[in-house]
Amino acid sequence: MQVRITVSFPYEAPVSQSLFDRASVVTPGGVNSPVRAFRAVGGTPRFMVSGTGPYLTDADGREYVDLVCSWGPMILGHSHPEVIAAVQDAVARGTSFGTPGAGEVELAEEIVARIAPVEQVRLVSSGTEATMSAIRLARGFTGRAKVIKFAGCYHGHVDALLAAAGSGVATFGLPDTPGVTGAQAGDTIVLPYNDLAAVRAAFAAHEGEIACVITEASPGNMGVVPPLPGFNQGLADLCSRNGALYISDEVMTGFRVGKAGWYGIDGVRPDLMTFGKVMGGGFPAAAFGGRADVMAHLAPAGPVYQAGTLSGNPIATAAGVAQLRLLDDAAYAKVDAVSAEVRGLVTAALAKEGVAHRLQVAGNMFSVFFTDAEVTDYEKAKTQESFRFTAFFHSMLAQGVYLPPSAFESWFVSTAHDDAAVERIAAALPSAARAAAEASA
Ligand code: PLP
Repeated sequence: MQVRITVSFPYEAPVSQSLFDRASVVTPGGVNSPVRAFRAVGGTPRFMVSGTGPYLTDADGREYVDLVCSWGPMILGHSHPEVIAAVQDAVARGTSFGTPGAGEVELAEEIVARIAPVEQVRLVSSGTEATMSAIRLARGFTGRAKVIKFAGCYHGHVDALLAAAGSGVATFGLPDTPGVTGAQAGDTIVLPYNDLAAVRAAFAAHEGEIACVITEASPGNMGVVPPLPGFNQGLADLCSRNGALYISDEVMTGFRVGKAGWYGIDGVRPDLMTFGKVMGGGFPAAAFGGRADVMAHLAPAGPVYQAGTLSGNPIATAAGVAQLRLLDDAAYAKVDAVSAEVRGLVTAALAKEGVAHRLQVAGNMFSVFFTDAEVTDYEKAKTQESFRFTAFFHSMLAQGVYLPPSAFESWFVSTAHDDAAVERIAAALPSAARAAAEASA
């Protein structure tokens, strides 16, 4: 591909547009994961060709400060030299063996060492696989079928977990997408987030039937909506009282909001946990793990089948180990500090223009809701004025700041977001805030 490096703002993206046109012929919607298509904000998705530190460069040669960080994984910024060196070293020795390898032992040991509730862990290739396998294991372990999940929590595109619709208490999941049958979603109970009374009622209504409760440790997929005080502990207690497993999905928060993820912040002990994103260093690596007596039910130790040709891939594990080893307390302190700085700038700019907004924070993850009400669940998240986000997003993009292309996503920063990157964000914010203020539905 020819890459031009000369174009300045604003704003057309002819090379991205032509790649998108070609992609749309051979790939549904032109993308390999729907949010990348910019459907929520409109416009041409940017096709990126390289990333260095806090910056991405698109096919038109424009550079952006990246506030998506590949949806979380790139916590050290792009192309971190030590991660790249580990990958180069691994790749020189071969790309996949289909046998056990030292890298997967090292990555598993890193995870077990950091997160006390994880006594054993199984590596997989995506967060979706991790949650799917954890649910299967919970069902196999308990001999029960039903699963409680929360509206607005995303756990990957697992059939049974794509029932996200419907507020109201103890609503049985209706499939959210064609292709998921009633049978696949019929054992899923979807409840409003942060509503312990609803969970209590569901356990009462389905005594002895519920295998597990799965929740994002601190949700980032409806925008950032942290658990209210006592919510996660309440879930753990209700599960333990009712013989169900408590599954904390830390695919997004794990190794991102701190060394031990959200568990390190709230200390609530799950039976099983799921991980992805940061632990793969930008490669497809994910995991689920937890209580050794539960994990012992997994094949080949036990009867619950689970497998993967590329599970524990040597390059992915090398990248993951290198990234995790670099994530010491100082690294997290840096990410937290950048996050606080960017949040401060965003809120000051929006306040100056009189834009109703609410910054919600979970560790170093945050998002901006265009409403002044506290957002504690998906229904409230949906009441925000997302048209203001659209205007804000496009203004930032035109000025070289890449935000998540949806108002219902977390923003992510990295250790590589230095003063120069933050200054660029600061410079872009005043006119983006003005665009948000002037936007109409
Ligand atoms: N769980 C959570 C909390 C996630 O945020 C995601 C992805 O965004 C997943 C699971 C699915 O992970 P993957 O996209 O790697 O399949």
